[in-house]
Amino acid sequence: MISYYNTREEIEHSGVDTAIITFGSIEQHGPHLPIGTDFFQANAFAEAIGEKLNALVFPAIPFSNCYEHKGSKGTLGFRPQTTMAMTQDLVLGLHSQGFRKIVILLVHGGIFSVPPAVRELNALTDDLQVVCVIPHLPTKKEEGVLETPNEIHAGEHETSVMMYLYPDTVKTEKMKDADCMPDYPQPFLNFAPILDLCPNGVWGKPSLASQEKGKVFFEAQVEATVDYIKKAFKICKKEAW
Ligand SMILES: [Zn+2]
Repeated sequence: MISYYNTREEIEHSGVDTAIITFGSIEQHGPHLPIGTDFFQANAFAEAIGEKLNALVFPAIPFSNCYEHKGSKGTLGFRPQTTMAMTQDLVLGLHSQGFRKIVILLVHGGIFSVPPAVRELNALTDDLQVVCVIPHLPTKKEEGVLETPNEIHAGEHETSVMMYLYPDTVKTEKMKDADCMPDYPQPFLNFAPILDLCPNGVWGKPSLASQEKGKVFFEAQVEATVDYIKKAFKICKKEAW
């Protein structure tokens, strides 16, 4: 892996042609996790995945899109078109420097404007392969460990990963009473902020989280995400559509 800790010369001599851009989010994560949860995880995922892909890793962009958390103090993000423009600006900058494989990690589930931006980059730009992925894929290794696969936010999965990666940031005493599984489908977040559907800002069961589960989930997601990216690069065309 090569990263923003390296010099220009080291990057030039590395021969690395893959770069990783990562989006986190700054948004409320219930009573037990910090608003920087997605940003913290974004940097950890980027480094772990960059290591396996031998890629150039940049620091995660803290902000993305989070209208679904509107109304909670400390939550901050861009309009979707801003994230779309940022994605294309950064990818085209890397392309002009000779990078030919770009990975966009979306370490927050609500960044819906990046996939269309990626599709356009692949369709209109020669000699460039761009792949985006949310490292929250179904994996065999999580089966039987993850008890609430249909949760969405600040629940068992995310809380466990934070307990594993950044234990000091988790208010464990607040986890046991924080469960909330509202009786709505996820697309209702297009119509109402999460605080109207889940009053404490949690959509899941943090009471079931543990550090041991977090290790399983994080490692399984890194492995599944790397496999996904390799598979996507194999099929992704190098010429414009
Ligand atoms: Zn999150």
